[in-house]
Amino acid sequence: MNANKSTVWVKEIRIDLEKCRGCKACMNACFVDVIRWDDDKKKPVVAYPEDCVWCLACECACPEDVIEVVPVIPAPLRSSF
Ligand code: SF4
Ligand code: SF4
Repeated sequence: MNANKSTVWVKEIRIDLEKCRGCKACMNACFVDVIRWDDDKKKPVVAYPEDCVWCLACECACPEDVIEVVPVIPAPLRSSF
């Protein structure tokens, strides 16, 4: 086992930019700077999805509820029956 291998927690971070009102709450909520800001478009950018730790702070902070953080779901454990 490689101790230096980082865990990938999320498959995708979806933001519906059509419904986003540009409040920056998601960017401010993300303590690992996954979400950055596009000054031209005045919208968030998922800049470093590989660093996401699936804390869901961005989802909770969004007043428009337009963020969906899709986790990596491990393969189901084989049934013992
Ligand atoms: S789930 Fe947490 S770490 Fe991932 S982008 Fe949202 S606030 Fe950042
Ligand atoms: S918190 Fe929601 S509405 Fe605000 S900038 Fe982020 S995605 Fe847009």
